[in-house]
Amino acid sequence: MDKQLNGSTSLPELFGSNVFNSKIMKERLPKETYKALRETIDRGAALKPEVAAVVANAMKDWAIEHGATHYTHWFQPLTGATAEKHDSFIAPTSEGGVIMEFSGKQLIQGEPDASSFPSGGLRATFEARGYTAWDCTSPAFLKEDAAGNVTLTIPTAFCSYKGEALDKKTPLLRSMEAVSKQALRVLRALGNATSNRIISTVGAEQEYFLVEKEYYMQRLDLISCGRTLFGAPAPKGQELEDQYFGAIKDRVSAFMKDLDVELWKMGITSKTKHNEVAPAQFEMAPVFATTNIAADHNQLVMETMQKVALRHGMICLLHEKPYAGINGSGKHNNWSLGTDDGLNLLDPGSTPGENAQFLVFVCALIKAVDTHADILRATCGSSGNDHRLGANEAPPAIISIFLGQELTDVLINLASGGKVCKKNGCEVLKIGVDSLPELPKDNTDRNRTSPFAFTGNKFEFRMVGSSQSISGPNVALNTIAAEALDEIATRLEKAKDVNAEILAILKETLQAHGRVIFNGNNYSEEWVKEAEKRGLPNTRNTVDALKAFTTPKASKLFAKYKVLSKEELHSRYDIYVEQYAKHINIEAQAATQMVRRQYIPAVIRFMTELGNSVNAVGKYGAVQKDLLAQISNLLGSVTKKVAKLEEETKKAQAIDKVDKQSAAYRDKVVTAVTSLRADIDALEALTPRDIWPVPTYSDLLFKL
Ligand code: ADP
Ligand code: MG
Repeated sequence: MDKQLNGSTSLPELFGSNVFNSKIMKERLPKETYKALRETIDRGAALKPEVAAVVANAMKDWAIEHGATHYTHWFQPLTGATAEKHDSFIAPTSEGGVIMEFSGKQLIQGEPDASSFPSGGLRATFEARGYTAWDCTSPAFLKEDAAGNVTLTIPTAFCSYKGEALDKKTPLLRSMEAVSKQALRVLRALGNATSNRIISTVGAEQEYFLVEKEYYMQRLDLISCGRTLFGAPAPKGQELEDQYFGAIKDRVSAFMKDLDVELWKMGITSKTKHNEVAPAQFEMAPVFATTNIAADHNQLVMETMQKVALRHGMICLLHEKPYAGINGSGKHNNWSLGTDDGLNLLDPGSTPGENAQFLVFVCALIKAVDTHADILRATCGSSGNDHRLGANEAPPAIISIFLGQELTDVLINLASGGKVCKKNGCEVLKIGVDSLPELPKDNTDRNRTSPFAFTGNKFEFRMVGSSQSISGPNVALNTIAAEALDEIATRLEKAKDVNAEILAILKETLQAHGRVIFNGNNYSEEWVKEAEKRGLPNTRNTVDALKAFTTPKASKLFAKYKVLSKEELHSRYDIYVEQYAKHINIEAQAATQMVRRQYIPAVIRFMTELGNSVNAVGKYGAVQKDLLAQISNLLGSVTKKVAKLEEETKKAQAIDKVDKQSAAYRDKVVTAVTSLRADIDALEALTPRDIWPVPTYSDLLFKL
């Protein structure tokens, strides 16, 4: 089945054609089965085995009709990537043939050998089994590959025998439950009797780079680390601002078109595509979805981008900082809470009631983000993202909230009993009685420097790294919101006068947590100083940031809302801090190899050429001699620095405690690589292009 967008297939026909979605289920399942499954999907009712059996059979028939031979339980281990093991539908018959089989049990549970996935000590090696369980709230779909394989792909959660979460999806689902429960209490206390479920929604904007495959293949750093460890700046960077939203080149456009088609087939609402700020950098944004589906989709987006780029002779780089000196890539995580009957709880609305509800939810977020800024920061920690957060790049490592001046003024005026100005004059407003002045719908571009910006009807968390799974950040957002909403709900439920209580909550929130609101330029030096005065944390590196997962505050929070037990939380710390060390170790090894086996030999070749020239031209060789001396000095320095890097890497490798080890990688190894880079880049600037052994920044960035 090779559906393409052409005269015979329209976009609406193409969209979701590889998804076993509600429409297909309704068509193919007996009424009773469909109803029972919907109960499970919409209300979390237990799935009966007989229902699962019927669903599995219908799913199998549909998949086979579409060319599938295999199925897989698709899951998201703590590596941040996705995992799949393919089983064919075949079952041997006594006559020596096969029939195609897929049982209810095979649909709802799998048992991959999980011993090679990180568990952070959650699973002893003798208990290697892990279990995958169908997440029926995220529809099954068909994955196609270039070889023509079609695989029925079943989104699953991945747990240990004892039920401990070994993946990123399980805590995400738990956090969605937690925030739903607490937000619903708040709504009930505010008099809402119609909504039954609160859904956290996410739209993840994905930034990426494209690079010519031929050049990529010549760079060991790109191949092994996803980023350049060396490279003198190209004459041109992003300073002309001619790439952002620029006309999309045909070759890139052809890639984007293919990408759209592949995503649409899998029911992913690819909506916006454009050139980003840096040369060869681009962005794709989908329409938002329920968080677990958005997280599944984002994993598929990243995977599909890489697959489709290859078809076009390009490589898609998802690393947070592929190139020095130009912007890196992030993932803007747009987050909100909605009700099952269609309300967006972060929409200010236009009636007094909607306004009051909005104020309550904004207060909850202000409190949550200020109280748990360390946790939010930790969820975005990775060796790649260290090049963005805390370096001179967007956004800073300090967590603050941008509300926009208008909304901030309204909050402050309400809290202090001051006047709030509307179009037709200024007046003292009463929460829940009068309606707020209409807030200008903020456009994200108005403040692109904030790590956590209110953008009219949602918050945009901009710290997330481009290569990261969005699950961790959303687990944190949902859980910290649940805690703040829990406290507010308790107050509102007891309050005699709900509107007076909202006002009190507003006052107290601003008093205790107003420090986290900042509407100015987050990149400025003044803000760093100001934030310090306000007592806001500024954790510039992953190793320190991850410690937020080991505090009693974090254990209490995640345990209270049954999102992560203390053991599960600590396992994440262990895994992520170890991942950091491993990444830096790979970078150190790639840097050493490139220097020893590519750069030093190339520079020696050039020195020989210069030496020969000096001999050939005799007394006219002054310039060559100068150059030779300059290069020889740099090469001497490189030799020392690469030896130092090898020594520091060895020392770091020998440390057995992960936290000490990761600190050594951060303080010694990263520094050694950076220092080595300075000399190599200086040599690159002096060496002829035809002798330089790898493609340059100009090649990588401007020759698409
Ligand atoms: P902006 O221009 O302010 O960034 P967009 O409408 O372009 O706003 O939205 C950016 C992303 O935010 C998109 O992925 C969009 O689907 C998502 N988004 C919009 N509304 C919500 C919502 N209620 N919850 C989560 N994400 C949302
Ligand atoms: Mg945006």
